[in-house]
Amino acid sequence: MQQMAGRAGAVLRIDLQAVRNNYRLLRSKLGAAQCGAAVKADAYGLGAVPVSRALLEEGCRHFFVAHLDEAIALRPHLPDQAAIYVMHGSPLGYEAEFLEHRCIPVLNSAAQILAWRALAEQKQQALPAIIQLDSGMSRMGLSSEEVQTWLAEPGYIRGIDLQYLMSHLACAEDQAHPMNRHQLQTFKALRAQLPGCGASLANSSGIFLGSDFHFDLARPGAALYGVAPVAGQPNPMQAVVHLQGRVIQTREIFPGTGVGYGLTWRSQQLSRIATVAVGYADGWMRSLSNRGLVQIAGQTVHMVGNVSMDTITLDVSQVAIEHLQPGALVDLISDTNTVDQVAAKAKTIAYEILTSLGMRYQREYLGQTEHTTA
Ligand SMILES: *Cc1c(COP(=O)(O)O)cnc(C)c1O
Repeated sequence: MQQMAGRAGAVLRIDLQAVRNNYRLLRSKLGAAQCGAAVKADAYGLGAVPVSRALLEEGCRHFFVAHLDEAIALRPHLPDQAAIYVMHGSPLGYEAEFLEHRCIPVLNSAAQILAWRALAEQKQQALPAIIQLDSGMSRMGLSSEEVQTWLAEPGYIRGIDLQYLMSHLACAEDQAHPMNRHQLQTFKALRAQLPGCGASLANSSGIFLGSDFHFDLARPGAALYGVAPVAGQPNPMQAVVHLQGRVIQTREIFPGTGVGYGLTWRSQQLSRIATVAVGYADGWMRSLSNRGLVQIAGQTVHMVGNVSMDTITLDVSQVAIEHLQPGALVDLISDTNTVDQVAAKAKTIAYEILTSLGMRYQREYLGQTEHTTA
């Protein structure tokens, strides 16, 4: 392992204790409501199994993925009392797989509801499901009109063991956005027609909108992984991801020398360039070309030239040569260069930085216990 870490182009450290601490913070905000976890897309690229096992240890019993295959992969790693919900619901014709793998669909359309009820009829038992309502995002779930049609069907709930009604917020990270209240009112009005049913609305940012948004179950993802949940405010979450790339070569270049594909950057004076073994194939976005900032031995340096598939180039003219030997580590994502800051430089959001993190990194998990390695 040590040797592997030494030869990998970059080292990705994922701090499971920070994930646990973030879960505790979110749960403390939620009061009586339960705190689930969105672990779709391999827990935003951080590893669905170790992350889910760490959250399980903290008492999390509701896990959300997007695809059936993600749920099937995760199921053997979680005990049966931990529910795994598939937010896309069942592709039509695959409903029986949910029973076989003990996964619960989020039903998003009349067709999905119908197919789930047909399976229940065949099995002669009510089957667990969440039903998603569209409260204004226009992405997933039944529209208000479709809810009325559904409720008007005789025996509309027959065969469905309805665990939660759920909806998703479109603008929750912007606390002043009027859409938050609007979606809350729409969700409440729809829910009033199914009294006694559990409800789930809040993602990470939704938790910070206040207790009106908490209902019975929250579904945070990003905040668990250290992403700032509220735009324009200090981030209360602990950093989870640390990424360090390795210097593989340095060179001195004369004034006017171009660097990288297209020679999009030229030195103004005698300069030193360091090449680091991380590129866009590793999720270090090409949009960071001539924009990104990284740190070497605590000193901030600029990315210069275009990002290559396997490398980036840095202007390290101001860095002492002892910090630039082949194998030296450069901080790409750190406590001082957070995933949110990197995302802003890359003109994207932290979610995309995390879910793009590549497969060539040496991955190290901090805060592992016997439960997270099982
Ligand atoms: C991804 C997702 C979440 C988690 O959102 P975060 O912003 O990462 O907290 C919750 N609910 C739904 C429906 C989602 O798609």
